[in-house]
Amino acid sequence: MQRNQWKTASAQLLKHWHRSGISQVPVVSLQSLADATAWLEENSSTLFDEYEPQTLISASSVNESGQVQPAISGPDQQSVEEKRIDQRTRNQPESTSKSLGKWNSPSLVIIDRQGVLDSLNERVMACRKCEEIVCRRQRTVFGVGAVDARVVMFGEAPGADEDRVGEPFVGAAGQLLDKILIASGLNRDEVYIVNALKCRPPNNRTPTDAEIENCRPFFENQLETIQPEYIVCWGSVAVRAVLGSQDSVGRLRGKFHSYRGAKVLVTYHPAYLLRNPDAKRLAWEDMKMLMKDMGIAIPTKG
Ligand code: SF4
Repeated sequence: MQRNQWKTASAQLLKHWHRSGISQVPVVSLQSLADATAWLEENSSTLFDEYEPQTLISASSVNESGQVQPAISGPDQQSVEEKRIDQRTRNQPESTSKSLGKWNSPSLVIIDRQGVLDSLNERVMACRKCEEIVCRRQRTVFGVGAVDARVVMFGEAPGADEDRVGEPFVGAAGQLLDKILIASGLNRDEVYIVNALKCRPPNNRTPTDAEIENCRPFFENQLETIQPEYIVCWGSVAVRAVLGSQDSVGRLRGKFHSYRGAKVLVTYHPAYLLRNPDAKRLAWEDMKMLMKDMGIAIPTKG
C-alpha cells in the first residue's frame, strides 16, 4: 500500500479505534497524522491479529482516494471479497421490519463498511424502480456520516435542496436538525443520516407504501452495514419504513422501540417542527431521553 493510501485508511481506522476505547492508539490530529501513520505501519502486523482473516480488506482493494473497491478478478472467477460484498448487498431479506431479530451478519471493520456502502450507492444511482420519481430526480441521495456511528438519523425522502445537492437534510429542515444535534452533544459527522427514499418524490409529496418497499433493500442494507445502537425516526414516514407501523408519531414517541437489536426513538420531523414550533419542546424531550440512554451529559441552563 502506498503512503497516501495508508494515511486515509489509517485515519479512518484510528478514529474508529479511539471510539472503541483502544487506549494504545496515539491521539489523531492532522498534525500528528504522519506520526500516527508511521506508528500504524510499524504496529499493524500485531494490531490486526484480533480480526478474522476474512474480515480484512486487501491493500490492493483500496484505491488512490482510500476507498475500498472489490478486488479485481478474472471474468470467470469472482474474488472472495467481491462475493462477500455482493452477498451483503444483494441477498438481504425482502422485508425485515416485521421480524425484528438481531442483525443478520457480523459487524464489519470500518473500511469494509465503507466498501459495502460504496457498492450499494452505485446500485442506488442505477436504480429506476419508481417510475414516477425517477424521471424527475436530479440526483440520488444515499446517506452521509460516520459508518461506525452509534446512532442513525432516519428521515423521510429528499426535498428540493437535497435533490440538487445529493445529501440528506441540507435545507431548512436540515439546518434545524443540525441545531438539534449540536444541542444534544452530537456532531453531524458523528452520526449517520439517511432517508427512507433515495429520490425526491414529485412536489415533495409523501412517499407511497410501494415506493418505501421499493427502497427497502437499500435502507435495510445501510442499517445492516452500520449496525447502530440507536435509530431516531424523524416523522411518520420513517416510522412506517423502520417499524412498519401506521401509528402516529404522537402515539409512538416517548419510549424506545426495537429494530434488529437497535433502540428506536420516534420524534417529529424537523420540517414539522418548523411549521409547529410548539412541538419543539416535545422533540427536545425525546432527544434528552436519547442522550440519557447514550450516556451523554444533558446541558443545564445557566
Ligand atoms: S426511491 Fe429508491 S427504489 Fe425508488 S427509484 Fe429511487 S433508489 Fe430506486
